[in-house]
Amino acid sequence: MLDFESKTADELIKTACTMWGSGFKIACAFALEDLVIIHKVLQHGVKPTVFFIDTGRHFEHTYAAADAARAAFGIPIQWVFPDSRKLGELLDRDGPSAIVRDADTRRRCCDVRRIEPLNRALKGATGWMIGARRSQCSVRSRLVKMTVDKDHDWIPRMAPLADWSWQQVVEYVNSNQLPCNQLFRRGYASVGCSPCTRPIKAGETERSGRWPSEDPTAREHGDHISGRW
Ligand code: SF4
Repeated sequence: MLDFESKTADELIKTACTMWGSGFKIACAFALEDLVIIHKVLQHGVKPTVFFIDTGRHFEHTYAAADAARAAFGIPIQWVFPDSRKLGELLDRDGPSAIVRDADTRRRCCDVRRIEPLNRALKGATGWMIGARRSQCSVRSRLVKMTVDKDHDWIPRMAPLADWSWQQVVEYVNSNQLPCNQLFRRGYASVGCSPCTRPIKAGETERSGRWPSEDPTAREHGDHISGRW
């Protein structure tokens, strides 16, 4: 059994590129962590699929960041959309602004706009990488660097930056002049859909701006529903 926990981000990424070849996938929301991972992976000569789930509710800044990333990295980005029938049913049931009404409507919106497209995007992958870090919030403090993802057909899931700090991420992005979503320069420490994200205040944890009215332990899309961080 390999000891992934003692490995650095570079060692983990090298291992993944060797084990998974170009068949793995990188979930990308154009967060700074995603840029770090893509930048490091591309140094190994593999061509994994980088995908973005377009929920239809992102900030304009995120689309601008996507354009900048495409130009900077010179790679295609796979755009993944919600299923149009399910989206229509959601809008019929809850209306277009129900996402901010209560936790149940928010969950239904995440299920249709985010979770089902993610499940679809990961089909056939040899593994996947996420940019989550332990210091982002209490829920993520349990994050492991490598696990078998039982929520997604038991494929391996790697979090190479699990033990990185926010400062390390910012320094890497700046020193490598990676294109940055401008919202990160305006007080946002985590950027998701516009109706569900706000900048954070001094002293708040990094993901406090995501679904800010909800219990801190519930501030996830639900991507990792088994709770195996
Ligand atoms: Fe809908 Fe908000 Fe979830 Fe985005 S984060 S899918 S807008 S509920």
